[in-house]
Amino acid sequence: MREAHRRHMNNQDSKIKVDRTAIADEVRSLYKETQKNPQQLALDAGNEDSSNIHTSTRQPSCSCINAAHTAALCKQEASQKVEIRSLNHDQLTYALTSMGEPAFRVKQIEAWLWQKNARSFDDMTNLSKKLRLQLKEKFALYSPALVSKQVSQDGSRKYLLRFQDGVMAECVGMPTKNKLAICVSTQAGCAIGCVFCATGKAGLTRSLTGYEIYEQALFIQDDFQMRVASAVLMGQGEPLTNYNASIFALKMMNSASGLGVGARHLTISTCGILPNIIKFSHEKEQFTLAVSLHSAVQSTRDYLMPGVKRFNLQHLHDTMNLYVEATGRRPTYEYALIKGVNDTDEELAALCDFCAGTLAHVNLIQLNKIDDSPFLPTSEKRAEHFVKTLKRFGVEATIRHSRGADIDAACGQLKQKVVGKKRI
Ligand code: SAH
Ligand code: SF4
Repeated sequence: MREAHRRHMNNQDSKIKVDRTAIADEVRSLYKETQKNPQQLALDAGNEDSSNIHTSTRQPSCSCINAAHTAALCKQEASQKVEIRSLNHDQLTYALTSMGEPAFRVKQIEAWLWQKNARSFDDMTNLSKKLRLQLKEKFALYSPALVSKQVSQDGSRKYLLRFQDGVMAECVGMPTKNKLAICVSTQAGCAIGCVFCATGKAGLTRSLTGYEIYEQALFIQDDFQMRVASAVLMGQGEPLTNYNASIFALKMMNSASGLGVGARHLTISTCGILPNIIKFSHEKEQFTLAVSLHSAVQSTRDYLMPGVKRFNLQHLHDTMNLYVEATGRRPTYEYALIKGVNDTDEELAALCDFCAGTLAHVNLIQLNKIDDSPFLPTSEKRAEHFVKTLKRFGVEATIRHSRGADIDAACGQLKQKVVGKKRI
């Protein structure tokens, strides 16, 4: 980070150390802490990581000695049907072989579950009637219900889906000529509380499971009758406070037995949960990362994004350097320009300082106006000035025009319109 900005930030917070090694060490130890106690970070954020679908804390613990016969199956034996997609490959294989089925059935069933979006066991027409009946008796197969759908003039479609327990989340499909880009939610609501965000205003209801995140993609794909070409976890919720489930969904989207989308076309967007950015940088797939920055001035960012106050800008900057070192990939910074708040000359100077000399791309977003909000979008002219200035400092920048402006495009708006301010 350039010296001017370092000084500027030091004035705001005299506790910030400027020693790069010390900061990198601090970030690493933050990471180690969360490795020791992975639930802590999520709990700190007022959230429970719903975890990978296979080890969901919502399942009872299992004292069974068979490794494949886990909590989910024990729960089933306690007479409750288990959602079949909550079983991983080994668990499904175990369940089917104990029913006397050959191993290739697993592949057939997985294709129905993860590619063909079967909505009931009766859809699985290449299985015998007897097996379909047995599966029905043993397992549940839930699909989200469509609560509301809005279609934009630009072709994008926004859906509000209701999951089995009644919680709701939004997702969006954005087609171009022959490509379908999608945006899915990772939580019902969000605990971070960004003041310009409709989702943040409503608070967190619960994290979505891995398959609830994934099945939004199947739902959109079915509705468009087009293959998904790219996906962003940029709908409602903070993916890095629901790490395992979000990564599970990305891996399934990437997998040949899922959607088969290239990892570089799969993006996670985060408000900046630093230890999990480091963790993310060690995932073996080349997923991409977007960080919602919105201001490079500490006091402004703290005001706009109160839930990430404890990760200051200096730490964010150093974490991103570690991310780039580990992955060699260029992260994107999301910056929604808000009139009179983060579009001033001082904010622009801080943004240039934050990004100059680093591998970064700045996405300047048009703020979507949300109900009862005092915030207004910046003028097009001002946004262009930001782009030009950033470029002068050698920073790549573009203005992203949000799609579906006529269909409550801002994250969380559709849900709020349908359910009001209730937490669902
Ligand atoms: N929690 C994650 C991902 C979901 S929010 C995150 O914050 O990155 C997805 C993006 O929408 C974020 O960049 C967020 O800052 C942005 N966003 C939220 N409300 C907005 C609004 N009213 N106008 C424009 N962008 C908004
Ligand atoms: Fe949560 Fe992202 Fe909205 Fe902030 S912008 S409240 S982190 S969903």
